[in-house]
Amino acid sequence: MADSIYANYPPALNPAQKEFLVRTVKDWATQNGLMVRPAPTFVSKESDPHGILATNAPVTLFPSPFPKTCFEEAKALQTVYNKLYAAITCNEEWIGKIMEDLIDVDDFISNLWKVHVAVQREGYVQTLSLGLFRSDYMAHTPSTSTTPELKQVEFNTISSSFGGLSSLVASLHSELLDSPLGSPMAYPPHPLLQSNAVPDNTAVETLSAGLATAHVAYGPSKSQPQLPTCVLFVVQENERNIFDQLALSRQLSNVHKIPVFRLLSSEILDHTFIPGSNPLRPLIYRPPHAAETHFEVTTVYLRSFYTPTDYKSDRDWEARTHLERSAAIKCPTVLNQLSGSKIVQQVLAAPTGPDHLAAFLAGTDEAVISRLRSTFAPQYDLSLSGKGRELALNPSTASNHVLKPQREGGGNNIYKTAIPDFLKSIPENEWKRWILMELIHPPAAAKNVALRSDGEVLAGGVIGELGVYGTILWDQKDGNILHNEQGGWLMRTKAEGVNEGGVATGFSSLDSIVLY
Ligand code: ADP
Ligand code: MG
Repeated sequence: MADSIYANYPPALNPAQKEFLVRTVKDWATQNGLMVRPAPTFVSKESDPHGILATNAPVTLFPSPFPKTCFEEAKALQTVYNKLYAAITCNEEWIGKIMEDLIDVDDFISNLWKVHVAVQREGYVQTLSLGLFRSDYMAHTPSTSTTPELKQVEFNTISSSFGGLSSLVASLHSELLDSPLGSPMAYPPHPLLQSNAVPDNTAVETLSAGLATAHVAYGPSKSQPQLPTCVLFVVQENERNIFDQLALSRQLSNVHKIPVFRLLSSEILDHTFIPGSNPLRPLIYRPPHAAETHFEVTTVYLRSFYTPTDYKSDRDWEARTHLERSAAIKCPTVLNQLSGSKIVQQVLAAPTGPDHLAAFLAGTDEAVISRLRSTFAPQYDLSLSGKGRELALNPSTASNHVLKPQREGGGNNIYKTAIPDFLKSIPENEWKRWILMELIHPPAAAKNVALRSDGEVLAGGVIGELGVYGTILWDQKDGNILHNEQGGWLMRTKAEGVNEGGVATGFSSLDSIVLY
């Protein structure tokens, strides 16, 4: 893209135009459910004792420019990435070897592994496994070139969120872009906005179709007598991002005609059971609001259980084990969750040693494997012999890196020059919990304006992170793939100079894109 277009994007807004656009976006968000529950720091429990309030999700006023070649490549690679993570999940031994090293220093990983081992010992009764994945990228501009390259930030195998809300942001920006020229709704004119459109965003359709496919593949009820079947969303207490999840459950019930329920992860053992007399181990759900009707759960969709704070006591681990040993199809299984660990991504990206990528993708065109490989940024472990240690401990090289633990959900990483001191502050035997990743450098920051959930409007340089959604249903016993789809995307934008990137954690805003 010509620098000149970049430099003056988005078109300037005078105070009246800005106020009008902010008001329009705010009202559109409310009318269409582009909403989150307010943070307690914004609306206190005392001022909303019944928890009825919601506010707009943090959202940009304009779509952000994103390189078309990178967008197309991310979409083209998604079904290959789906296949890769299904294949990894099928290789229990390979995952086990990687986890072995972490087990004595990482309680969370260790407990997850124990759940898997316990169920493995008893024998899994469900071999189908569902993945609703999101692969996250930035456009990287190498110092030697101006051509942006697609580089992966991370691959998510559990609770890949924002499909619901990101589809809405695409609609919002499309409406603003499409409003008749000269109408008060239109953006001020700009070359990038003229004759350009926000790409279709089918995240809601894709993700719910994945869940629906698993539901159908489960087959008839395994109970005697047979029970009506349902999909179960397992969710966190006080979930602020509930409207994102409801977009998927609404699509499942309204379009796919599948009953869907939401259940707090802390209440699984209160409202579900597995009849001891049935060796098929169906998972039975008793909705508290209709306790006389029992449903058999075909598919458990986890929007909880991805972070240590979701497991407050042994009872929560018991609940996770209970789900894992049931006949319900898990999205994801424990093994699939573990396959999404940062350390797996680091091992895949390792430039020397066995070519795991080629092995997992055996049968895939070599050119495609090499395209996928080129989305990896350099990553290192911190072992004594590795290069990672040296890079992490030297402040001048550390400044081009990020240190990541085996965690999801944002707010866990250590950045740049903070890395050496951080490492020195923890026992050396814990270093293997972390991986070191080279920073991706997106093109010189574009600008945008964000309306935050507390109503604050911030303008400035931004950096974008693209997520692409994919769904896959496979059989763990032979790796057979029953469904493999790509569809829908997420654009998140954070202020330039901010290291972290999550929307839920308050660092980024939801955005959409215009391609250039
Ligand atoms: P989490 O599982 O917590 O989401 P991520 O790997 O996505 O972990 O890292 C969180 C954020 O840190 C990302 O959204 C991104 O903004 C930033 N980040 C992570 N890795 C890199 C990288 N290699 N280069 C630049 N920024 C990164
Ligand atoms: Mg992330």
